[in-house]
Amino acid sequence: MNCFCGSNAPFENCCQPFIIGAKKPSTAEELMRSRYSAYATGAVEYIIKTTHPSTRKFHDAEYIEKWAQSSVWQKLEIVAKSGGAATDKKGTVEFKAYFTEANGEPQVHHEHSTFQKELGKWFFVAGKIFS
Ligand SMILES: [Zn+2]
Repeated sequence: MNCFCGSNAPFENCCQPFIIGAKKPSTAEELMRSRYSAYATGAVEYIIKTTHPSTRKFHDAEYIEKWAQSSVWQKLEIVAKSGGAATDKKGTVEFKAYFTEANGEPQVHHEHSTFQKELGKWFFVAGKIFS
């Protein structure tokens, strides 16, 4: 099965090792992709764990769980990115996540996310949502 993030690689060789903690994402984009796949598979704990501790309080696990599980995640599109390479400390990724709500309504979540690396680990810091 190809990975949820649309990489054309199998889930087991793409986002799953990050989600189960077998591997650490080396770029901001890898973290972003694995967080999308975590939404698609309902891995709420991973979404919380990869949110920077300074902004974690703004992200409610119950809300994330509800959103992750009441939606069918269709595809991820990376629109733009800056920094976020293995040698960087900061990066941004702009993406569109396509999903269908429980009522069948197709939706697009368009976000510009900021990422930060600390002690060799990438975290999601904050997102600006386009309406
Ligand atoms: Zn993936």
